[in-house]
Amino acid sequence: MMSVWSLVYTEFDPEEEKLREALCTLGNGYFATRGAAFHARARETHYPGTYLAGGYNRLKTRIKDRDIENEDLVNMPNWLCLSFRYPGMDWFDLKNVEILDYRQELNMKEGLLLRRIRFQDAKGQRTVVNERRMVHMSDSHMAALKVTFTPENWSGEIEFCTALDGTIVNDGVERYQGLSNVHLEPLETMETDSEIIYLKVRTNQSKLTIAQAARTSIRCNGDQPEVKRKAIQRPGYIAQHFKLKAKKGSDICLEKIVALYTSKDTASAECGLEASNRVRQANGFDELLNNHILAWKHLWRRFSVEYEENEPPSEDRTGMILHLHTFHLIQTASISTLDLDVGVPARGWHGEAYRGHIFWDELFIFPSFNLRIPEITRTLLMYRYRRLNKARDAAREAGFKGAMYPWQSGSNGREETQKMHLNPESGRWIPDNSRNQRHVNAAIVYNICKYYQATRDMEFLSFYGAEMVLEIARFWADITSYNSELDRYEIHGVMGPDEYHEAYPDAGEPGLSNNAYTNVMVAWVFMEALEILDILPEDRKNEIFEMLSLREEEIKHWKDISRKMRLCFHDDGIISQFEGYDQLEEFDWEGYREKYGDIQRLDRILEAEDDTPDRYKASKQADVLMLFYLFSADELRKIFKHLGYSFEYETIPKNIDYYIRRTSHGSTLSWIVHSWVLARSDRARSWELFEKSLESDISDIQGGTTAEGIHLGAMAGCLNILQICYTGLETRGDVLWFSPCLPEELGRLNMQVHYRGHNLSTEILQDKLRITTCRAVEKPIKIGYKEDIYELEQGKTLEINLVKQKHACKD
Ligand code: BGC
Repeated sequence: MMSVWSLVYTEFDPEEEKLREALCTLGNGYFATRGAAFHARARETHYPGTYLAGGYNRLKTRIKDRDIENEDLVNMPNWLCLSFRYPGMDWFDLKNVEILDYRQELNMKEGLLLRRIRFQDAKGQRTVVNERRMVHMSDSHMAALKVTFTPENWSGEIEFCTALDGTIVNDGVERYQGLSNVHLEPLETMETDSEIIYLKVRTNQSKLTIAQAARTSIRCNGDQPEVKRKAIQRPGYIAQHFKLKAKKGSDICLEKIVALYTSKDTASAECGLEASNRVRQANGFDELLNNHILAWKHLWRRFSVEYEENEPPSEDRTGMILHLHTFHLIQTASISTLDLDVGVPARGWHGEAYRGHIFWDELFIFPSFNLRIPEITRTLLMYRYRRLNKARDAAREAGFKGAMYPWQSGSNGREETQKMHLNPESGRWIPDNSRNQRHVNAAIVYNICKYYQATRDMEFLSFYGAEMVLEIARFWADITSYNSELDRYEIHGVMGPDEYHEAYPDAGEPGLSNNAYTNVMVAWVFMEALEILDILPEDRKNEIFEMLSLREEEIKHWKDISRKMRLCFHDDGIISQFEGYDQLEEFDWEGYREKYGDIQRLDRILEAEDDTPDRYKASKQADVLMLFYLFSADELRKIFKHLGYSFEYETIPKNIDYYIRRTSHGSTLSWIVHSWVLARSDRARSWELFEKSLESDISDIQGGTTAEGIHLGAMAGCLNILQICYTGLETRGDVLWFSPCLPEELGRLNMQVHYRGHNLSTEILQDKLRITTCRAVEKPIKIGYKEDIYELEQGKTLEINLVKQKHACKD
């Protein structure tokens, strides 16, 4: 029976190993280690990786006579290294033995990676190896391995090696292989006492010092044997080798307890000292495990979403994948993140794809944190706040006022989008214009407002949030231009979320005009900015006016823009993705599907054919439809009315139908948005797309990309569909709204929601909504359903009979 708490593999599959390593990554928000076997080395089959949250380094590479600089998430020293061999033989390699039994299990409930291998070597010797591993959830500097060897039918000598290896390079993404990849320089290695080895390295540009210390203890059938350890040291590498007499049927148990500290840690005397002292004082594996499991128990209490299907399948794969997505979400940003200055990366700290950069994917990731531990969102928003000056510099350099946040952000918030990228289909390096996605600035405002609505954290808003929002509004005001003929404001030279359209066909320069998503978001940003000015305490508002030299004329101008952003339409009510979209050619979807099969990455296919998607009505992902994802029909109606455009109920299904037929879903975010926007008009199709989104990473539907890092936006996006979209949960004004529209497949859904200091147990049935608040000192909260608003006091339960909706629910 499949457990909803375990991802299990029962066969070793070299082809899939790197994918499993990404999916079985263990992390705690401070660092993460891929699920590579303890004996694996980076080769064709395996790619061990340990990544520190925010552990970046920049390197230059010469491409096409240009120096290109990229900032990468650095693969830090491998602490897993543990291997064994028989006298005169090679170190253990799964490929050289006959595997009799194999089981790898990611135990998500307890945050453990377990592996059991029973194998027979060339001499007919059978051995069982059991591994348990954790990256400690509450003691964020700690990780541990416990490996037990049991010779089944032999006795004899066995040699072990335990090491810390900093002689590694970034080699996890094939497309980056032409780029410089040596990020670490060795500093120090030492055997600090008989059981402890220690390694210190430094990134060669960002000068981040990383220290690891490992204590490897040995037990033979419970006793501590006398062993002579031999240290092997070379720059960036330290190991201990030792030999043991293995006895048939007797266990040899190695425990490797590891501490990782860096020069960025707070309250640390010196990272090397901290790491070696910590490891000396640390408890053993089993003691460390207790607190680790407790931390996970507490996280799951908040984050778990339980549901019952009307016809429960014999194996609940959906439930298991939902746990997997939640698991990786809270391993990427967690309680340990609260102390750090880091953002949330699109690909988790799970691999090197997209270089650990921070994109607009926050938009998909933050809702789960807002509803569970909003302090995490606050920390991640502070990552943006600390980079406000860089965003100001970027705006100024581009000739604009205010703050222009980058499309891809890394260490200090400068634009980190690569200038050139390799098309693996054609082998050509081509310019990357995706940095023109200025809409990331609207996403930041959206995230600040949603955080505020969920928490009413006025201190955050007035000291940090407002400044970001107002500076972003200023940038938008400056990038818009006024078209006097139309009496409308326009934005030129940008890109929408659909990355297939970078420029007009045959235009000499990148950029598009009047991307509908951007323009609507901009109008909304102004509406919010004005609202924030209304709710800020008067004295703070005055300070902000002074600090930013804001003038009343500027505010008046914002009001005007908020009413007059331009939208283009075609085909009777279709919101044009951008101005001139209607002039593009229709794309031959059938023909290309027939020719290539998988056309998710149409951009690469077309470039390899010396063509470009710029010419076609073909999108990589939701663009116009993002509006229906982010706003309810009511909110959009309000924004459109404010803009002086009509918005009928039919606008939504009509546009969904139009764009869904013209989208290749080349981004994993695309299925999420489509499932969401269909939830109220076509529940069956929405559920189908939801199930498809669930497969994004576990089945690696993009054919190889998950091995390079999970797609955290899509993972979190799936959770949002269940916990926000199908429940109709909305934090609007001072009310927590519900408008459940459960797919027919679901009989019941239970989850915890944290709202303005209250913890709510929420149960949704097809015909009932039940909310109980936990005792807390906070003021009562307001719950909304349809036109009614209910006041809910602490410790009380509210039960609402839902209006039966036989057909599709409408807003
Ligand atoms: C998508 C972007 C996304 C990025 C990181 C790209 O493929 O087109 O929307 O932000 O991946 O996930």
